[in-house]
Amino acid sequence: MRTARFLSLTLFCLVAVVGVSVAADGAIKKDYPVTKITERIYAIYGPYELPTKQNYGFRNNPAFVVTSAGVIVIDPGGGKNVGEMVLKKIRAITDKPVVAVFDTHSHGDHWLGNDAIKRAYPKAVIYGHPNMKAALEAGEGERWVKVVNRETQGETAGTVAVGPDKTVNHGEVITIGDRQFRVHHYGSAHTDNDILIEVVEDKVLFVGDVVRVKALGMPDQGGSYKGNIAAICR
Ligand SMILES: [Zn+2]
Repeated sequence: MRTARFLSLTLFCLVAVVGVSVAADGAIKKDYPVTKITERIYAIYGPYELPTKQNYGFRNNPAFVVTSAGVIVIDPGGGKNVGEMVLKKIRAITDKPVVAVFDTHSHGDHWLGNDAIKRAYPKAVIYGHPNMKAALEAGEGERWVKVVNRETQGETAGTVAVGPDKTVNHGEVITIGDRQFRVHHYGSAHTDNDILIEVVEDKVLFVGDVVRVKALGMPDQGGSYKGNIAAICR
């Protein structure tokens, strides 16, 4: 990989989650700190655990980039409440609207938070791989809503499956304000629809679940152990 710096969305911080609750605005009340990665890029490291009633389905590492044209969110989390929390964190840093979202792949803990983004910013454009869009439209979207709601014992109730508006694939560069977002896709890896998002000017790469703690590939969604290793070695 040519980029000099890597930001793994799955190199989780281990966070003890006790007594998480939802605030009046719908966001998770527990305060997950925002980590500044570069002058314009921030990440919120989620707990390294499965979805539970206590964590509201929050188990990924949402991130956001503040560009001159607005905010870009990468993986807004596993439900409406998580997405609301991400928005709350963004608003504490900038008044700029969210103008785009990149979903790194079709697992619900990464994209179910799209719902909160769209409710707040209906014009925001959600990007994902063509295989992700197709899978969600073929029923994976609704399946994930049910899975996460069941595992959180109803705490994500009301979350609607909102998938990508537009598809992006390997080599495409999306320019938003003063930042370029280069998309990388290496075939079947963690899933068959992973996209890695390179913020060109900042030399930061969001790898989604292609890089995970003690795990490779996934049996669902077209994942491949060999392909996952090959993608990491690119
Ligand atoms: Zn995943």
